[in-house]
Amino acid sequence: MKFIHCPHCGDKLVPKNIGDEGLVPYCSVCDRPVFNIPYACTLTLVVNELGEVALIRQSYVSQTNYVLVAGYIKSGESAEETALREAQEEIGVSAHTIRFIKSYYYEKRDMLMLGFVAFADKCPLSMSVEVDAAEWVPLAEATGRLKEGSIAMQLLQDYLSTN
Ligand SMILES: [Zn+2]
Repeated sequence: MKFIHCPHCGDKLVPKNIGDEGLVPYCSVCDRPVFNIPYACTLTLVVNELGEVALIRQSYVSQTNYVLVAGYIKSGESAEETALREAQEEIGVSAHTIRFIKSYYYEKRDMLMLGFVAFADKCPLSMSVEVDAAEWVPLAEATGRLKEGSIAMQLLQDYLSTN
């Protein structure tokens, strides 16, 4: 989120030089800098004991490309809680273990995506209304189903290269 007005008092921000930070949007009424913050999201490889990953397709995103479970972090949640909640909400999976892999900045939508792997016992996937298709796919085959160059693909490759 890029701030134009102060989120505290509503006054227009002006750039001000602040030490090591350089030029930062500044509120002269509150006398404090206001840092732009990206939207924090989680992106999760939900993996079962057979080495399969849950891929989903959402037609409002793409008719052909599959994606990973993902969602915005709500105020008051830890990133791990978000990742586990989204796995439950989107595909009905209760993961038992979760591990952070890496974070990625998605410039197009000003999102900081926190990449996780969440381990779960294989179960039938039950889709939320936001999901049009969901299936367990062997990790090695998943690279062919995700969009080339996408952050989902980067997360999958980063995970595979460390395992
Ligand atoms: Zn202010």
